[in-house]
Amino acid sequence: MPKDRASDAAGNAKLGVRKGDTVVVLSGKHRGRRGKVIRVETDKRRVVVEGVNVVKKHMRPRGKVMQGGIVDQEAPLRRDKVMLMCPRCSKPTRVSRTRLEDGRLVRKCHRCGEVVDR
Ligand SMILES: [Zn+2]
Repeated sequence: MPKDRASDAAGNAKLGVRKGDTVVVLSGKHRGRRGKVIRVETDKRRVVVEGVNVVKKHMRPRGKVMQGGIVDQEAPLRRDKVMLMCPRCSKPTRVSRTRLEDGRLVRKCHRCGEVVDR
């Protein structure tokens, strides 16, 4: 395996999506759905999107507080199945990276050229 060159000081930037981003699903059962990223699993190249890919989980009761039964929970999606929604042009976009004058590495919208990160 080649070493991941994309790794940088910005943490989860490797996948191009981060917690809190709005993404759109490109393929599969949930195609066209939009949601907020609630978790990024960088090592597995997966993201968990709010309200997308919700599965029923059968939980075993754990103690007095944790009730058992069936709960709804988002299952991770492959990162390449989703695309970042640009907050500026409101379109799904690829991201490129650029370095600001202050040295910070930020993500940039491939369509409108606006910096996505603040
Ligand atoms: Zn844009």
